[in-house]
Amino acid sequence: MLKDTHQRIHTYLRISLTDNCNLRCFYCMPEEEYAFMPQQRLMQADEILQLAKIFVAQGVNKIRLTGGEPLVRKDVAAIIRSLGELGVELTITTNGTRVHHFIEDLVAAGVRSVNISLDTLQEDTFTILTRRNQFRVVKDNIRLLLDRGFTVKVNVVVVKGLNDREILDFIAWTQDEPVHIRFIEFMPFDGNKWQSDKLVTWKEILEIAQTRYVVQPLENAVHDTCKKYRVDGHTGTFAVISTMSAPFCSSCNRIRLTADGKIKNCLFSEEETDLLQALRTGEEVLPLIEKSILSKHKELGGQFSKDFTTIDTSHLHNRSMIAIGG
Ligand code: SAM
Ligand code: SF4
Repeated sequence: MLKDTHQRIHTYLRISLTDNCNLRCFYCMPEEEYAFMPQQRLMQADEILQLAKIFVAQGVNKIRLTGGEPLVRKDVAAIIRSLGELGVELTITTNGTRVHHFIEDLVAAGVRSVNISLDTLQEDTFTILTRRNQFRVVKDNIRLLLDRGFTVKVNVVVVKGLNDREILDFIAWTQDEPVHIRFIEFMPFDGNKWQSDKLVTWKEILEIAQTRYVVQPLENAVHDTCKKYRVDGHTGTFAVISTMSAPFCSSCNRIRLTADGKIKNCLFSEEETDLLQALRTGEEVLPLIEKSILSKHKELGGQFSKDFTTIDTSHLHNRSMIAIGG
């Protein structure tokens, strides 16, 4: 069991398959030229499986594949299928541009729920936000997933002045479609030019929702990172991931493995432990995992306080989101 000094048991592993991506979301990639990791630095498919098995033997019962964009990796189909045999809940977070190529692999691996990132319902805004014109294919792939019976959660990073005017449009989408919108508070990472006044908070999002709708809170599960709501009569739901304005660290059960095989015990942790190097040199991996979990900070990687308005990003030490695995 992977328990930390704050009595949190870690059962949920997020594995980044690559830091490469076919989109260029400004809040995720550093603005300056970014060099993707060379192939040999990435965990290979068999190494991913070996490491995943060590975590599963310690009680991990849910694995999420992420990145970068997990579905741009050439051997992703084999990775999905091999992890599907571990008997844990397997999920994926993807930008949705390549889902149609891998839908049968997702089905075969027993994936039931897919998170798709889509920050806007306007084609031109999509191109501005991602610097690529892939809006239609993402929308079509959401349709495909719904038609094939997947649970579809749509991740929307809300940034003031960019897409906050679309909050009601996203909620309107839940009227007839079983989509689950998850508004995410904009978070600071290396090179993403985060400013506290660009953040739209959970409370503000809820207030905007209530200008048009009667909103009912839904029950949250113990480890949920989001606050869930349903508009009376709507088929789908919406939720807010309030990492910045109301963090949920006390019930955190997550561990992250970066594409280069480093364990990060928190999204905001500065410390990393190199599991891939250990695996390649024959060193025992489990003691390294346990040590990392035991060193997990109580809140927010120990890097900033709960008052996000006081964050000075020049003092944060972290990777950019694309290199962590969101
Ligand atoms: N490429 C995939 C995708 O976009 O879904 C998976 C990786 S992406 C890093 C995972 C999630 O992190 C996405 O939903 C993305 O919107 C979110 N994300 C990235 N940067 C963020 C930031 N600065 N604040 C909040 N969420 C962020
Ligand atoms: Fe790529 Fe996802 Fe980051 Fe956008 S959020 S740049 S799609 S990894």
